[in-house]
Amino acid sequence: MSVLELRTTDPEGTRLAAQVIAGVLRPGDLLVLDGPLGAGKTTFTQGLGAGLDVRGPVASPTFVIARVHPSLSGGPALVHVDAYRLGGSADLEDLDLEADLDDAVTVVEWGRDRVEHLTSSHLLVELERPDQVDDPDLPEEPRTLRLTPAGPRWDEGAVTDLARALDAA
Ligand code: ADP
Ligand code: MG
Repeated sequence: MSVLELRTTDPEGTRLAAQVIAGVLRPGDLLVLDGPLGAGKTTFTQGLGAGLDVRGPVASPTFVIARVHPSLSGGPALVHVDAYRLGGSADLEDLDLEADLDDAVTVVEWGRDRVEHLTSSHLLVELERPDQVDDPDLPEEPRTLRLTPAGPRWDEGAVTDLARALDAA
């Protein structure tokens, strides 16, 4: 399995990376975000929202579990879920979302080991603050983003497109 890793130096960089990723996403895609509090999961989702041109603002959905952001330009909606308080296997159908997940791009914070069963494919995005900052005087706030595509949707061609888009950015 191929894993793509990138590093950003500030929140805007994480948003931009997500915006680039949004450019290769298709209706029905599921993104599973993993990483501790403050890692940048919501910040990443804001970039997805910008890239998909959806109605905002994209904010932490903690108190609502899920929000649907409709497209402003006829593309897929962004369904933004916070699975933190959902049980083991989250059943998104039970959330009664006003969106068909086959037509939307769905992104789930804290989704790891909770929502992968919902689709045959997903893109796992692991965000973390590196333990070791090379130079503490640098005004950087680095994050590592590790992308692990899984399932038939992410065949070699699709992963290559993703890698090329990120390289070009
Ligand atoms: P999470 O949803 O994972 O809890 P948030 O996106 O809500 O995280 O918060 C991340 C915080 O870290 C924000 O305050 C953001 O401005 C800050 N930050 C600093 N550097 C980065 C970076 N490189 N990428 C993403 N967020 C960053
Ligand atoms: Mg969050």
